[in-house]
Amino acid sequence: MLVTLQRIVQHANAATDLDEALAIIVREVKVAMTVDVCSVYVKDPTTGDHVLMATDGLNPDSVGMVRMKANEGIIGLVSAREETVNLENAADHPNYRYFPETGEDRYQGFLGVPLVHFRQLLGVLVVRQRERRSFDKKEEAFLFTVGAQLAGALDHAADGARLLDTRRRRAQRGKAIRGSPAAPGITIGTIVLPSAFSDLEAVADHKPHDLELEEAAFRTAVSAVQEELHQTVENTAGHLPAEGRELLDVYALMLEDDTLINGTVSRIHAGNWAPAALRDTIADVTRSLEQADSPYLRARAEDIRALGRRILLRLSGEAPEIREYPERTVLLGEEVSLMRITQVPAGRLAGVVCFRSSGLSHTAVVAKGLGIPAVVALGHHAFEHLDGHKIVVDGHQGRVFIDPPQSIIREYERIIEEEVSISAKLGEFRHLRAETPDGIEVKVQVNLGLRSEVPVATVSGADGVGLYRTEFSFMIRDTFPVEEDQFAIYREILESFAPQPVVMRTLDVGGDKPLPYFPMEETNPYLGLRGIRFTLSHPEIFVTQLRAMLRANAGLNNLKILLPMVSQAAEVKDTRDLIARVQHELEEEGQPFAVPSLGAMIEIPSAVYNIRALARYVDFFSVGTNDLTQYLLAVDRNDPHVASLYDDLDPSVIRALRSVVSAARALNRPVSVCGEMAGDPAGVVLLLGMGVDTFSVTTASVPRIKWVIRTVAQRRARSILRRALALDNAKAIHQLLHTELERAGLGELLRSTAARNTTDPNDWPV
Ligand code: PEP
Ligand code: MG
Repeated sequence: MLVTLQRIVQHANAATDLDEALAIIVREVKVAMTVDVCSVYVKDPTTGDHVLMATDGLNPDSVGMVRMKANEGIIGLVSAREETVNLENAADHPNYRYFPETGEDRYQGFLGVPLVHFRQLLGVLVVRQRERRSFDKKEEAFLFTVGAQLAGALDHAADGARLLDTRRRRAQRGKAIRGSPAAPGITIGTIVLPSAFSDLEAVADHKPHDLELEEAAFRTAVSAVQEELHQTVENTAGHLPAEGRELLDVYALMLEDDTLINGTVSRIHAGNWAPAALRDTIADVTRSLEQADSPYLRARAEDIRALGRRILLRLSGEAPEIREYPERTVLLGEEVSLMRITQVPAGRLAGVVCFRSSGLSHTAVVAKGLGIPAVVALGHHAFEHLDGHKIVVDGHQGRVFIDPPQSIIREYERIIEEEVSISAKLGEFRHLRAETPDGIEVKVQVNLGLRSEVPVATVSGADGVGLYRTEFSFMIRDTFPVEEDQFAIYREILESFAPQPVVMRTLDVGGDKPLPYFPMEETNPYLGLRGIRFTLSHPEIFVTQLRAMLRANAGLNNLKILLPMVSQAAEVKDTRDLIARVQHELEEEGQPFAVPSLGAMIEIPSAVYNIRALARYVDFFSVGTNDLTQYLLAVDRNDPHVASLYDDLDPSVIRALRSVVSAARALNRPVSVCGEMAGDPAGVVLLLGMGVDTFSVTTASVPRIKWVIRTVAQRRARSILRRALALDNAKAIHQLLHTELERAGLGELLRSTAARNTTDPNDWPV
């Protein structure tokens, strides 16, 4: 049975569209089970009707025509119960309904299985037998397994058959599509889709007359694009973040690269003209990138294709594509490349939406730098028809509305207005101390990853930097940065904030943050060589970073080093040994340096229970609630299938945090919190109640969090925490915090963050 199943799946996967895949499945299942009929009914999500979509055995003309009401017939029964129905003679069942147009009155035996994908019933798969037949358990299991595979295919089919297409499009319109927040803010704008990729792919082979002339034309086209890129770097100064401009420089360098240039030139000399030679080289370079799990690599593939298109345009003697961008352009695509972002005239780009990608991709980095909202990881949706449509991008909640009804637009306009008015009020808090009404002083620091964020962060009223994510300067390059490059970046940041402290985290790559130039083959990267495990296993990389950090700290002494993904004390001890080695080397070389204090991130469950052992080697702790929540709940929040299960107010997370804070305090080790929970008013109240005295948040959240701290007394926070700990589910905890924050007079702040943490726009009146 397994072999048959695999064969059917293989054949269906090779189909060019969903109709063909369904036809293959019904045909092959019919043979495999020696039945007289196999049919697929798909549920219309709007009406709930079941529509016959494919059949082998019933009248083929009835496909698309037979429509049964939601609860009608035995199909309706399978669908309503979401269970297998196995009947020796269907006509004996009280639910039996007869559809003469299908000719099905001749059949007696019935076996139907529901097609369910991620809790959603998509249809029913049925086999019928002319005679009475009681299908055995093996046959039931077989059909059920085919159904499970088919449900996935129905949900993911990219082209969409008639009904399914309608289903997807309807799902997109008006209702919220959930993804992950990648850059905060709200925008109402107009969708702009990428120009078709087909231009490169549509190039036909052609034998050139003169190979030398062809090569020369190609090289001239490449130089013109290089010049264009340099021009873009200049034109976007002060507009595009430094990191984005550096990446454009990398692309300009790529145009000198052997793979692209030599690959194309050798194809020309093998007898093809430049456009087709370029087509094949680009396809070659992007193929492996596209198949990668990493959003960085996939975005890189899109950038390379964009480069290819530009060269092609130059080859054809045309000027670079000029397209009209609406006032409030929202770029939408599977991934949105940097090249696309730079094509939008300054001031017109209002938002970015990627169906794939991750909150840590270049797109997210650049969107944050530009101060525009971005939402990513929306999952599979048909979007090719959406150019010019209206969209609301909610970068706080990580959701979008396509063609939203007026009620949603009005609600978001109201939120935008409130955000504007509240930001004036928040400005008053910026330079006030973060002190509770009962006199407890805490620190509010910023999380940074980009150099371009530094100028705003220095005037944000923050008490230094609580988390500087050094991996960003590694991720935006094509090679590891050398010690001098790292030294320059770290020094600039330390100087910008001195004498305030700067907590720099050592390289935190792996998992959802792979380095494009250092691919690792791992079956489960989230449980693999991440953070400190990676750097300890690559001392050559780690030592370079530690040297750059210690040197940058010379004479300033405001650096603290933080280790990511620590799971056991030995990792910190080994790092201490490496720091001692670096210190020794620098002394020998006569280089100025200063040794900073050392801390461990608590973001892996084992670390929660290893505080005492860790405290022997560290000076402080910083809790990363993002990863801690992810690992405690076993939820990857970049995975659209389970992202809704991610909740940092889950009782398990709160208990783990309380245990960390009390253990660390008992050992006299300060604890800060640098995950997103520290930027959420509800989270802050609970953390304050636990005794956390340092919060590290995004620059934009600094005044907001100061407002909360200046409003809620620690005594009161302790009592709210006690009550939260008595609750057994996240929803009740959210409700409690919502009520308490309202009662404390933070209703206005809460409403302005309504689109962030509490309400679900799908519950709004439409
Ligand atoms: C965290 O995990 O909470 C954290 C702050 O680290 P990251 O950079 O992984 O979000
Ligand atoms: Mg983390």
